[in-house]
Amino acid sequence: MTRKLYYEDVNQLEFESKVTGRGKDEGGYYIVLESTAFYPTGGGQPYDEGTVNGLKVVDVEEVDGEVRHYIEETFPEETEVVTGIVDRERRIDHMQQHNGQHILSAVFDDQYGIPTTSFHLGRDTVTIDLGTPTLTDELLQEAEQKVNEIVRANLPVETKWVYVEEAATYPLRKPLAVEGEARLVIIPGVDYNGCGGTHPIATGEVMAVKLMGWTKNKKQVRLEFVCGYRVLEKLGQKHDVLTELKQFIPRPEEKMAAEVDEMIQASKEKEKKIAELEEQLLTYEADEIVAEANGAGVIQRVFQDRPIKGLQSLGKAITEKSPFSYIILISEQPDQLQFVLARGSEIDRNMNEIAKQSMPLIEGKGGGKPDFVQGGGKRLMDGEVFAEEIRGLL
Ligand SMILES: [Zn+2]
Repeated sequence: MTRKLYYEDVNQLEFESKVTGRGKDEGGYYIVLESTAFYPTGGGQPYDEGTVNGLKVVDVEEVDGEVRHYIEETFPEETEVVTGIVDRERRIDHMQQHNGQHILSAVFDDQYGIPTTSFHLGRDTVTIDLGTPTLTDELLQEAEQKVNEIVRANLPVETKWVYVEEAATYPLRKPLAVEGEARLVIIPGVDYNGCGGTHPIATGEVMAVKLMGWTKNKKQVRLEFVCGYRVLEKLGQKHDVLTELKQFIPRPEEKMAAEVDEMIQASKEKEKKIAELEEQLLTYEADEIVAEANGAGVIQRVFQDRPIKGLQSLGKAITEKSPFSYIILISEQPDQLQFVLARGSEIDRNMNEIAKQSMPLIEGKGGGKPDFVQGGGKRLMDGEVFAEEIRGLL
């Protein structure tokens, strides 16, 4: 069994130890030490990072009672004693998040009767799942305040190894899931919890807890929060975003949302106006084309890079005014051709048939109603040539 220094003194991050084993498994090369300050993944808390004799520790896992330190490369055979250094920033971060979680879960449980059903400590987000279908803003605000009062009170965080039978004398939040000896993490008067994680020695080290929002998750609520330096990090990120936004929207922060809303509404109005104008323009264009055609049996036009939607609208506008004409509209693009093929209401012919015959010429696809079809394919010929091919089929 490895001696676990993180249970003796959580602030001891440098240590020397004998190497007692080495090996390789699906996680890679690893060494086992007589004693270690590296916390292995467990209880919702990720492993510690750091170095052993200058080599990077990329993962730490507990397997059959031994703590395996996975190193980025094979470890020299002749090495008997190593110096381990645990990454301080990461360890402090994990302690802040984990202890903050204990306090948060205690407040939800004791004050509102809402139990915590799971905990996730990620690099970007920290979440707990709460056994409640919903939460209110008022409750969240109040809970956040209560949690931060406990942080500010700088209560001691005690750890204690007890036999499971003895644990029954403590007001534990959940029954212990282990047999034999168990470790308790205790914030007197606030929380009595079976937990194997690393915690600071007093709640003040958590610095602050900020609730970041929640989502429904199955029949529960997933609450996101940050503690400690992550609060500063988040504040910094949000400040940067706001500062950048202010260059475009020079308004006080509290008026920014209303300003953006106004801008979006104005933009929607403009889009609507543009659509109306486009519609008008299209009517003029269709009138002109129809007048020019002067009752011809086939009206045929090739455009450059015209979106298929515009081609369809124009096709419809022309068809309405030309009951006795066929309409062939082509949009020529660098590597494809798109087309609209239609007929006036007085012609009895299924345009799908014409399209079916002409599409192989451009390895195209398409279809529609008997009087109006559209499609597209590769640009295997110029638009004018394709238009002539179609015309030949009419
Ligand atoms: Zn815990």
